[in-house]
Amino acid sequence: MFENSRIVLVNTSHPGNIGAAARAMKNMGLSRLYLVAPKEFPVYEAYSRAVGADDVLANAVVTETLAEALSGCVWVAGTSARERMVQWPTYEPRECAAICRDKSLQGDVAIVFGRERTGLTNEELEMCNGLVHIPTNAEYSSLNVAAAVQVLCYEVRMAFLSNPDVAVEKSRTQKEDMPATTDQLEGMYQHMYQMMQDIQFFSGSNPEVIMRRLKSLFNRAQTTKREVAILRGIFSAAQRKKSVRSR
Ligand code: SAH
Repeated sequence: MFENSRIVLVNTSHPGNIGAAARAMKNMGLSRLYLVAPKEFPVYEAYSRAVGADDVLANAVVTETLAEALSGCVWVAGTSARERMVQWPTYEPRECAAICRDKSLQGDVAIVFGRERTGLTNEELEMCNGLVHIPTNAEYSSLNVAAAVQVLCYEVRMAFLSNPDVAVEKSRTQKEDMPATTDQLEGMYQHMYQMMQDIQFFSGSNPEVIMRRLKSLFNRAQTTKREVAILRGIFSAAQRKKSVRSR
């Protein structure tokens, strides 16, 4: 039921939180835990807090970067303890879980959780298609990270239980019309950046800000594999034209 759903913890400081998150996942039937550069892992404290969920910890995938943990994902939600003033679409946990369920027909989906003290960076949020905020008390909004994992995993479970057919139904979407994976988008961004440099688009403007806006656009649009191919074709054509002209 949940085989396409990943829970990703970024840079967790306290191994006890990793164990508690594993337990929260297993209670709700999820098992695919990804740990991006955990401060201490594997250690006893994580296993002791996981209680019977040591299998989730034993199978956890440890990566150095968030990009590696999201490799192959078709939809990614980033969690935030604050409601941010940004251009990302923001969902409540229930909406996020319904999207996860629907997108999981097309490939892996992930929910990303941040550092205990500082949450997720803007660069990390840029890799997400949407933000999810648990509507907590605005004066005391930050949950313990494992408690936040519990809330989201509960909603994912409820989303699947409320519509079990979706979980078994085979998607009829053609392969090319499936959402591009995070790696395919990353490749496209690099190509786009190179092309924009080649055609001297950035003169006077800040490339970082422009790229951030464009990433936000493509994440919102849920760009498909076919669209990525068309865009990259356009980038290559612009690059060829430029190199012919500058000869
Ligand atoms: N000061 C940090 C708090 C991080 S809390 C910040 O403002 O971002 C650690 C992690 O727990 C967050 O990165 C997020 O993954 C999760 N979390 C805590 N409270 C949350 C909430 N209300 N909604 C969604 N996620 C939350």
